[in-house]
Amino acid sequence: MSQSAPADAEPRRQPALSPSRASDFKQCPLLYRLRVIDKLPESPSRAQVRGILVHTVLERLYAHPPEERDPAAASALLEPAWTELYAEHPEWQEAFDGDDAPTRPEWLASAQRLLDAYFQLEDPSTLRPEACELYLETELTSGLRLRGYVDRLDVAPAGDIRVVDYKTGSAPREVGEAKALFQMKFYAVVLWRLRGVVPRQLKLLYLSDAQQLTYTPDEAELRKFERTLDAIWQAILRAGESGDFRPNPSKLCDWCDHKPICPAYGGSPPEYPGWPSSLGATETVLDRSD
Ligand code: SF4
Repeated sequence: MSQSAPADAEPRRQPALSPSRASDFKQCPLLYRLRVIDKLPESPSRAQVRGILVHTVLERLYAHPPEERDPAAASALLEPAWTELYAEHPEWQEAFDGDDAPTRPEWLASAQRLLDAYFQLEDPSTLRPEACELYLETELTSGLRLRGYVDRLDVAPAGDIRVVDYKTGSAPREVGEAKALFQMKFYAVVLWRLRGVVPRQLKLLYLSDAQQLTYTPDEAELRKFERTLDAIWQAILRAGESGDFRPNPSKLCDWCDHKPICPAYGGSPPEYPGWPSSLGATETVLDRSD
């Protein structure tokens, strides 16, 4: 079992489940199909792009010595990080089309507000994370492979593990909370299987309103969650074989790029292309934003 790999490592082609894709299937099987199998393009929202920017700044901030991790250092990282990310992703321009597009100073100010909120929640100069943007991968006894990135992993000298996730999205908290908890339990299972220790705490930091949510998992719960993940994977395989990926309309459809071709809204999706011969976890850069 591997624990970490460089973020730019060549993805392995073994089938694997990531929290984002598992959550997609749970939310709506058709959404999973259109993203993972059809691989239809999606336009990033401004909130997603801003999320990536803020995650990048926080990751870089933690590369500073602890005593230098202050609000001024975070602000100084913002503009260069944006220049770099925007140059790397010219396709993000789409998110800035339209009359309501913010000016560059307005845009940076909106990201700065999320960073300000972060400093209301934590003092990074007092924290010694083991890793930021940590790639994790493991295989369950069922053979199901799990992988994904955690925003930050704190490990106390006594070995207690805390998984920290920054939430920067604009979706209402009540809509995203169940999804966020699912994602955190997913990482808790991976870490438990990799290290033999149930993480002490799962911590979600909501930067749009400077709120936090903490959760303490237990082993019985993670065992049950592992069975849930196996069941999701089996359901994905069954749907993959039959091509029966049904739409499941919900409030979250308002954030779905595929609504115009969704049968639940009178559209027609393309013909099912069949289960791909190789299927990675298909985590994208945008999945690391929210
Ligand atoms: S619009 Fe809703 S029901 Fe349709 S594919 Fe998207 S998430 Fe699923």
